[in-house]
Amino acid sequence: MSLKTKIDKAYILNKAQELFKLADIEKTPVNLKLLASLAGIKDVIEDDIEEAGNLIPNKGSGATIVLRESDSAEKKRFTIGHEITHTFLPGFELKEQFRDKNIGKFSLKNEVEYLCDYGASELLMPSFLFEPLFKKYGYSIDGLLVLAKAFESSLEATAIKMVMQNQEKYALIQWIHDYKPADEGKLVQNVLPGFEQLCPKPEKVLRVSFPFGFKKDSFVPKHKSLKGDCQLLKESFDKKERFIGNVEMDFEGFTIRTKIHAHPYSYGGKERMLTLLEDYKIN
Ligand SMILES: [Zn+2]
Repeated sequence: MSLKTKIDKAYILNKAQELFKLADIEKTPVNLKLLASLAGIKDVIEDDIEEAGNLIPNKGSGATIVLRESDSAEKKRFTIGHEITHTFLPGFELKEQFRDKNIGKFSLKNEVEYLCDYGASELLMPSFLFEPLFKKYGYSIDGLLVLAKAFESSLEATAIKMVMQNQEKYALIQWIHDYKPADEGKLVQNVLPGFEQLCPKPEKVLRVSFPFGFKKDSFVPKHKSLKGDCQLLKESFDKKERFIGNVEMDFEGFTIRTKIHAHPYSYGGKERMLTLLEDYKIN
């Protein structure tokens, strides 16, 4: 490899394509463990680790991937893809180990981790298989469910790949139903009898747990909640019914107007909502 090799998305895509050829990948779902072994990974093991995944370069050559055993099968597949991508990067074997706390967040703050998430997305959902299916089923919740099933990928990872098909037009927000950070303290306060009205019990609200898209980087901050309730979103969440329509989401300081596809679901016993945004405007 020349010293001038540029490590960017194109480099990662090239490496992924080389692996697809070696492994004869022609249909979904992709065999991630086969790709790992072809990339020189000697072992993929599971353990009770704090991080989502670890990569331990072997003395000599190759490496071992450690997955967090409590993660879902889909998440583990993404993690394998992320760790394989680390091995694409020159000099990875010089490190004792990679301990990956955050996988799949596509944060632009750390270029290497961003590229490894990008590589994971490609290895799990190769563009040459993803794009035709995306065109067939479209940017919709139905499309999301079909694609997630076909690629055995999580809803979140699949939705991100859908948004990446056109970041001028698409974005997503993952919501959780939880107390506002400012309200968490009030939960443990003892209120004197008769003063309940002055200190109303805090209520759970829909809060942004993960935004993705918005052209370059997400600027809907994490934990942000809506200023007032967006009635249509709240109804969809409360009734656990999907919703498609135009909404105005009023955050403190800015408003997002968008067509929305809302999908309330439970994950790990917690109620969540994934919303696909289409043709959004922020002001
Ligand atoms: Zn990593």
